[in-house]
Amino acid sequence: MSPSKEITARGLAAEVRSGVRSARSVLEEHLSVIDASEKEIHAFNLVLIEDARAAADVVDAQVAAGDDPGPLAGVPVALKDNICTRGVPTTCSSRILEGWRPPYNATVVDRLVAAGAVVVGKTNLDEFGMGSSTENSAFGVTRNPLDLRKVPGGSSGGSAAAVAAGFTPLALGSDTGGSIRQPAALCGVVGVKPTYGVVSRYGLVAFASSLDQIGPISRTVADSALMLEVIGGHDRRDSTSIPVPAPDLTSVLDRGVEGLRIGIIEELSGDGLEGIAVDVKARLGEAAAALEAAGATVAATSVPSTVYGLSAYYVVAPAEASSNLARYDGVRFGLRIDAPNAGDMNIATRTAGFGDEVKRRIMLGTYALSAGYYDAYYGKSQKVRTLIMNDFARAYEEFDILLSPTAPTTAFPIGEKTSDPMAMYLNDVCTISSNLAGHPSMSVPFGLGNDGMPIGIQVLAPATDEVTMFRVAAVLESTAPAGHPAIGGVA
Ligand code: GLN
Repeated sequence: MSPSKEITARGLAAEVRSGVRSARSVLEEHLSVIDASEKEIHAFNLVLIEDARAAADVVDAQVAAGDDPGPLAGVPVALKDNICTRGVPTTCSSRILEGWRPPYNATVVDRLVAAGAVVVGKTNLDEFGMGSSTENSAFGVTRNPLDLRKVPGGSSGGSAAAVAAGFTPLALGSDTGGSIRQPAALCGVVGVKPTYGVVSRYGLVAFASSLDQIGPISRTVADSALMLEVIGGHDRRDSTSIPVPAPDLTSVLDRGVEGLRIGIIEELSGDGLEGIAVDVKARLGEAAAALEAAGATVAATSVPSTVYGLSAYYVVAPAEASSNLARYDGVRFGLRIDAPNAGDMNIATRTAGFGDEVKRRIMLGTYALSAGYYDAYYGKSQKVRTLIMNDFARAYEEFDILLSPTAPTTAFPIGEKTSDPMAMYLNDVCTISSNLAGHPSMSVPFGLGNDGMPIGIQVLAPATDEVTMFRVAAVLESTAPAGHPAIGGVA
């Protein structure tokens, strides 16, 4: 693979808009990078070569006609394969959706295309977003481009790997408990989970609807800012969409952190939490020092109930999933295994169509919602969710921004945690609480671990304060210790 060259979505779009480069040439260069290493990485479930060429040609025709194709003119983008694309298979990396082609685009897809972006393909994921390594895909694992023996994280592992490998400068992921931020951290790229409701979920295949959020993955903080400006903002098709325009982010990135109050969440980074690696802790300390040197005040703080986040999540998310996934009945979508009567057909289809982890979640969720257990499990988890919100609210009286590691360790070897679901679930221990609270958070690459693999720092902000979150992220990016943020890329 070729060494990294500094290519940003922002830079590419500027060149295409001004006619310095054609969208078609930008696309062809990215397609050749894909061609060279996709076989070993397997970031994509589907590469849309001809559709992408046609889209790039439309952008070039607009430029030739004197029209502005938009802020993402000619920028190749990859979409997690749980985001609906009209007429193009959307699999969620599950056999149960075999043959299904959505009759509509997700709102985010329409917005990307309207901004001039060129959709290059659909990326691999843990089936329905359930996992932290992309090993739970029905279509095979995705490998970490920085070390092919290791996982890229998950569930948006295909999207993070695509960006890290230089297949596309931008990708979309979805994040229910960490699925954008954790793979971004493990692949050395930027990943953003926006405030719940800032980005439309219309056309995102539902996993746990009260937690799911679509967000950007990119190589730079500025590119994620640009992408979020394009995809964010009210959408009448999503009843949980916040009725305000997308935040203005690209213009605030150089504002610095002078005077900001930043808290390090003790429960997610200190000795209180089992399994945070020493190199990860060390990088967090350096990130705190860098922010202090840039003019912020930094202090340790406590958000006590975050220690219950993981337990609450693994009741709430499976409960919602068990309900959402009831629709895959062999009648309405994709796969059907025939049987003499409807009930048997339903059982045969779901038995053949869902993988082990999805079945585990459906069983957990069904149990947690069943009469007699509802209050003990689901009810209690909702109370924990309220406690977490209250604790964050208290912390944000004193601090503008909170900080933690994104993931407890760097990328782990493929196969290491597949037989131990609990070990896999622990990957999300730092990321889950902001989904439960509905708050924005993002991962910024900040140096390497002892194994030479990237480490991500998580920046957390109160609801709808993406602006301050991005200001802090920009300072972390500019002060990060040297190290390969990602490989690959095209000039
Ligand atoms: N890894 C977590 C899970 O398996 C989170 C997944 C996600 O955010 N989609 O549920």
